[in-house]
Amino acid sequence: MKSAARVVVIGGGVVGASVLFHLTKAGWKDVLLIERDELTSGSTWHAAGGMHTVNGDPNVAKLQQYTINLYKELEQISGQSCGLHITGGVMLAGTPERMDWLRMAKARGRYLGMELELISVSEAKKLFPLMEEKHFVGAMYDPIEGHVDPYGVTHAYAKSAQIGGAEIVRHTRVVDLKARLDGTWDVITDHGNVHAEHVVNAGGLWAREVGRMVGLELPILAMEHQYLITEKIPTLTPPPGKKEQLHVIDFEGEIYMREERGGMLIGTYERAGVPWSPTATPWDFGQNLLPNDLERIAPSLDVAFQHFPILGESGLAKVVNGPFTFAPDGNPLVGPVKGLKHFWVACGVMAGFSQGGGVGLALSRWMVDGDPGADVWAMDVSRYGDWATLAYTNAKVRENYSRRFRIRFPNEELPAARPLRTTPIYDRLQAEHAVFGDYCGFEHPLWFAPSAAEAAEEVTWRRSNAHKHVAAEVQAVRDSVGMLEISNYGKFEVTGPGAAGWLSHLMANHVPSVGRVALTPMLNERGKLIGDFTICRPSEQRFFLIGTYAAESFYLRWFERHAAQSDVSLRTVATQYVGLSIAGPNSRALLQGLVRDDLSTAKFPFMSFRRMDVGMIPAFVGRVSFTGDLGYEIWVTTDYQRALFDLLKAAGQPYGLKSFGGRALNCMRVEKSFGTWAREYRPIYGPQEAGLGRFIDLNKGEFIGRKAALAEKESGGALRLVSFAIDASDADCLGDEPIWHDGRVVGWVTSGAYGHTVQRSLALGYVPVALAVATSGFEIELMGERRKAERLTAPAFDPSGARMRA
Ligand SMILES: Cc1cc2nc3c(=O)[nH]c(=O)nc-3n(C[C@H](O)[C@H](O)[C@H](O)COP(=O)(O)OP(=O)(O)OC[C@H]3O[C@@H](n4cnc5c(N)ncnc54)[C@H](O)[C@@H]3O)c2cc1C
Repeated sequence: MKSAARVVVIGGGVVGASVLFHLTKAGWKDVLLIERDELTSGSTWHAAGGMHTVNGDPNVAKLQQYTINLYKELEQISGQSCGLHITGGVMLAGTPERMDWLRMAKARGRYLGMELELISVSEAKKLFPLMEEKHFVGAMYDPIEGHVDPYGVTHAYAKSAQIGGAEIVRHTRVVDLKARLDGTWDVITDHGNVHAEHVVNAGGLWAREVGRMVGLELPILAMEHQYLITEKIPTLTPPPGKKEQLHVIDFEGEIYMREERGGMLIGTYERAGVPWSPTATPWDFGQNLLPNDLERIAPSLDVAFQHFPILGESGLAKVVNGPFTFAPDGNPLVGPVKGLKHFWVACGVMAGFSQGGGVGLALSRWMVDGDPGADVWAMDVSRYGDWATLAYTNAKVRENYSRRFRIRFPNEELPAARPLRTTPIYDRLQAEHAVFGDYCGFEHPLWFAPSAAEAAEEVTWRRSNAHKHVAAEVQAVRDSVGMLEISNYGKFEVTGPGAAGWLSHLMANHVPSVGRVALTPMLNERGKLIGDFTICRPSEQRFFLIGTYAAESFYLRWFERHAAQSDVSLRTVATQYVGLSIAGPNSRALLQGLVRDDLSTAKFPFMSFRRMDVGMIPAFVGRVSFTGDLGYEIWVTTDYQRALFDLLKAAGQPYGLKSFGGRALNCMRVEKSFGTWAREYRPIYGPQEAGLGRFIDLNKGEFIGRKAALAEKESGGALRLVSFAIDASDADCLGDEPIWHDGRVVGWVTSGAYGHTVQRSLALGYVPVALAVATSGFEIELMGERRKAERLTAPAFDPSGARMRA
């Protein structure tokens, strides 16, 4: 083994091998993979090798497409067969709700170029004759599903990497990692040490243990997973035009199937899933299997035997029970880790044969170019913070595993690990019959029911029982005043003599003057949006940055990369400051009764921010608006929040102050065409495209992304965020619906809501810039139907902005 390498990749499963290959492909040749045992000896060797493109996140779906399309190229480079079987796949729906899910998956696939086809039960039967038609209502066909040989794929990556210059060392275990002061690493193994500039943790089943070597507790957990292979089924004949049975998913039975050696391979994500090695993975576990537990999967098998009777009549040739890892949301954990220089992860990959290629591509680009080259937010390791503890991960992974093939409705909140994080007014909100949502472990009110009995939401694709209550909340804001808990934002305090200069370098807008607020995008060097912040400046050398809490680690990683001089101090204050917002035409009168400061527009205009006493409570008050109405955000330290809540409630009584939740807020911001992070603002869009051009100050001097932002301003960018009103019936857009124009798919929806004030179904979405001025011809595919959409030339509510500035 060499004693120095530019990169050491730890782990020779499918993911580590893919990272190694992609690094060589990107031009880094001095790369070394260290494997404890033989290649594939983690979860890879016993995988069923199934692959598919459909994923809830379109960006992950794109990477899955890339992975599947890569296999032929790998075979050509390496001469190693991947055992590629593109059989095509059928997803069977047993309920109308599942059929709606398939319709939506098909629609989302449209702008990704996926050729998904909805088919009838009898068409499905022709493709998969083993099924009993009576259990199903429809199906979807995907031509590029199939399966591969896990050994073949891993070795094809490995050989291709070696051809590209990489070295692979087997039977060598990394036992420790020591960071040097210059940010490089000593990789300590049981066969000598290697000095590396970069380390990649692709430790799969042991990724958690490798993380612990550097003080990192990664939110991953291995679950036991079983599949069976039946004996040869003599009557099994391929459907017309096919060489073997198709890959099949039966959502109701929570099973997947494919042909294997003349019999059928049947795998299940059972509801009673069991974690494996929940706290520490044994190092002596290798190419072992776990004892079978057919009892555990019996309920799924019962369904399978009813839905596919021949399976019940077939003998069992083999049972495989093996562990593999999951993150709490089931997506991979990829990228650089905050606080650790040159330390990268590529783990928690639960579908290595659909996702391994995409993970390797994204990570290698990130390492070589400093940017993953695609929107990888859904699998960025930074989406989890310290709040994702071992026990939290355990609860969420088990929940996610048991629901793998169940529908997650857009308004469905999952119960595991809750309530975990609550603010001091949680019980007050409960007493008002709040229906809570979970956001990074925080409980936050989604909407308020009139009684305890009604404080539960039916899960549906369509408008739910919450609709009319949300309407009442919106009306309260628009007519008088409403109150919203706003604690779950990400908050940073930046102080010191260099604070203004550092923020100006980091952010695209100018920093505000004392007592003012500025909205600002944060751009990367390519001029793409990597954050949107509200900067508040209470004093000369003190700033509060308010952004998205889910992106706290993502932001911190960026701030670290562009570290400030010693005359700036940065502190996260997300949980130290909690807040309440009041909004509506009577919000000023309400607050004026509680503060000594003059709140008139002359003295405290829109976008002001000031330290004020609210009654006896020391607070920071900002006059900002995400509802589009006159409004104030009031920030206090946690110990004052209950008092603030009670004070505002009492003072709000004469105005009919009504609590409102996240649903009403979403409706009102969509009525105003206001975008939000991870929806309208993502690292694939430029500020002109996202309609944020007015927040880019190209005249203030240099800042990160300025050159690219200037170029985008000159070119106009390729896309444009536009607003639509849709001829909807009982369902509104959720995001990711295709936008059609003159019979062609031209874009996608990013957010949708029913606009209760304007009484129209609304959506925001991206279309090519040339079409952003088209006045007719738009349709949006909603619940499988193309519905006429009117492009709005101005926000649906208060286009002049007079209400929030009043
Ligand atoms: C029963 C079963 C069926 C499955 N079916 C499918 C399927 O149909 N389709 C699909 O896409 N996925 C499937 N999977 C999941 C798939 O196996 C995983 O997504 C994939 O194997 C993850 O690969 P990996 O490289 O991340 O991890 P692993 O395969 O676990 O590889 C990690 C490697 O790192 C090595 N390592 C760890 N620590 C060290 C160290 N300190 N020093 C040196 N080496 C180290 C290990 O020895 C191991 O070889 C299945 C899994 C199971 C268990």
